Amino acid sequence: MAEEKREFQAEVAKLLDIVVHSLYSNKEIFLRELISNASDACDKLRYAALTDAQLMAGDPEFRIRLIPDAAANTLTIADNGIGMTKDELVANLGTIAKSGTAEFMSHMTGDAKKDVALIGQFGVGFYSAFMVAEKVTVLTKKAGEAQGWRWESDGKGAFTIAETDDATRGATIILHLREAEKEFLEPQRLTQLVKHYSDHIAIPVTLKDGDKDEAVNSASALWTRSKSEITPEQYTEFYHHVAHAFDEPWLTIHYKAEGAIEYTGLLYIPASKPFDIFHPDRKHHVKLYVKRVFITDEAEELLPPYLRFLRGVVDSQDLPLNVSREMLQHNPVLAKMKTGLVKRVLSELKKKAEDDAASYATFWETFGAVLKEGIYEDFDRKADIIPLCRFKTTAGDGWSTLDEVAGRMKEGQEAIYYATGDDITALKKSPQLEGFLAKGIEVLLLTDPIDEFWVPAVGDVQGKKLVAVTEGAVDFSKVKGEDKPDEDKPEAAPTEALDTLIAALKLSLGERVKDVRASDRLTSSAVCLVADSGQMSLHLEKLLKAHKQLDHNSPRVLEVNPRHALIKGLAHKVKQSGREAIEDMALLLLDQARIVEGEPPADPVEFARRLASVMEKGLG
Ligand code: ADP
Ligand code: MG
Repeated sequence: MAEEKREFQAEVAKLLDIVVHSLYSNKEIFLRELISNASDACDKLRYAALTDAQLMAGDPEFRIRLIPDAAANTLTIADNGIGMTKDELVANLGTIAKSGTAEFMSHMTGDAKKDVALIGQFGVGFYSAFMVAEKVTVLTKKAGEAQGWRWESDGKGAFTIAETDDATRGATIILHLREAEKEFLEPQRLTQLVKHYSDHIAIPVTLKDGDKDEAVNSASALWTRSKSEITPEQYTEFYHHVAHAFDEPWLTIHYKAEGAIEYTGLLYIPASKPFDIFHPDRKHHVKLYVKRVFITDEAEELLPPYLRFLRGVVDSQDLPLNVSREMLQHNPVLAKMKTGLVKRVLSELKKKAEDDAASYATFWETFGAVLKEGIYEDFDRKADIIPLCRFKTTAGDGWSTLDEVAGRMKEGQEAIYYATGDDITALKKSPQLEGFLAKGIEVLLLTDPIDEFWVPAVGDVQGKKLVAVTEGAVDFSKVKGEDKPDEDKPEAAPTEALDTLIAALKLSLGERVKDVRASDRLTSSAVCLVADSGQMSLHLEKLLKAHKQLDHNSPRVLEVNPRHALIKGLAHKVKQSGREAIEDMALLLLDQARIVEGEPPADPVEFARRLASVMEKGLG
């Protein structure tokens, strides 16, 4: 059959251009990527052969061969793994199946080192071959099929595909090296690279030197070795391999569980945040093995979503080898492993938090928002997770635990207070906090979207509830605080005048507010908006609106500061000239309170008109 010519998917063409022209440094990682693919292909065949032994007939020993050929100027990487059909070739090497390509492009930083790391994360590893090759030929035959295929491309927009009789089971990748890349023909250089990047690969990697194929890697699954035999570098390289990551792991957890169920876990917590950690699928990235045979990296029930920052492998001794992915659902052995893994990870985190608070803080800053999901998703572990959580508060810049905050409560304080918002700086200036700050009451400052959801699940902390500063009326009179005695504060508007003003404001604002009331929450601002008890918090309402889950604002309570000069002046004005005289100002006050909450004025044109009119009067 004749050769077919096909165009790469547009995104692939663009990606290839970036790979070849922008990612100069670290070219050597192409070898790591190709060996990693070969190893994955062998894992897949081993798994498929569990149910169909015929697939491996005639060639039962997995191996990955490196064959440098100085005369032809080629480096060949050949595996006897699962191989690819014609359709798979086109799909896997001509398109980017994962929808993340556009996202990949948007994550490119221009910093070659970081961008190379991204290539691994986005699974475009194969294309890294074009960093060193001007042409790549792939010969492949899928296990169990009769026909082999030949794929070829110079990485410039198109590839060809044709039938071939030269392919054996698996995939053979032939790199026609660029003139400047001859170093990748040298056996020493190749050995060094394999040892450095791929020593942990469980399949033997051999190098053809003269007539002989010589073993280069240790070819035993790293997690099965004992801790004392593994160097820190080997742990790190395995992390790079298994996590498609280039950073250093923040924490490595390697242990063997023995007893009711037996399994080995080699788990890592990355130092930096994976780009897709907040992807809605919330999938974890830990691979499941059974007796060293790769089963799946999609065993959803192996770990809860709130630990999805983990990377690594779990190898079970108890699951049957021929376990199907469907059988993994509601599997009691898997459920037990999950319980064990969660316990172990949480206890390692606890240890780390106790031993090295500064380092733990970096973990918290990277993944705290994910771990917090566990408070409301894992009722059984809630009590272990809460002490692992760290919070910013109004008392300084550091991190505190809820227990620490509870321990610093003022005498007479009835609840632990918290404020939610998008941004810590804006939050600190919020008028709702003024009264708390004046009293010296510490307030938790919560800025993760998730915070609106876990708070109700916490329940009591040392017998105290968590209460939002924006919620309901706060009675400060019982709290023994640090604020000035009333005599030292500015005088409040006389009660009768204040009542008249409040009545006038209610009349002017009508349905726009739920209520108007005087409060001692405010010290320097004239007004603020709060939710009535039981009402949704203002921040949550904003979040839901941003996600189009809500299409209206519910009316709020407008609180006024009786000691503020503006309020006193208004009270005086109403008494003298009647309600109509302050109508514009009433609406301006409400808009001002909305703006402070990060909301736009209800009607910007009217707002501008009123503001201009008030300013004019001020000038006159
Ligand atoms: P990833 O390995 O992250 O999926 P790659 O770009 O490295 O991304 O490879 C793309 C796909 O091409 C793989 O998922 C696999 O399906 C296929 N592939 C690559 N190399 C081989 C190989 N040696 N044998 C079989 N399939 C392969
Ligand atoms: Mg790959």
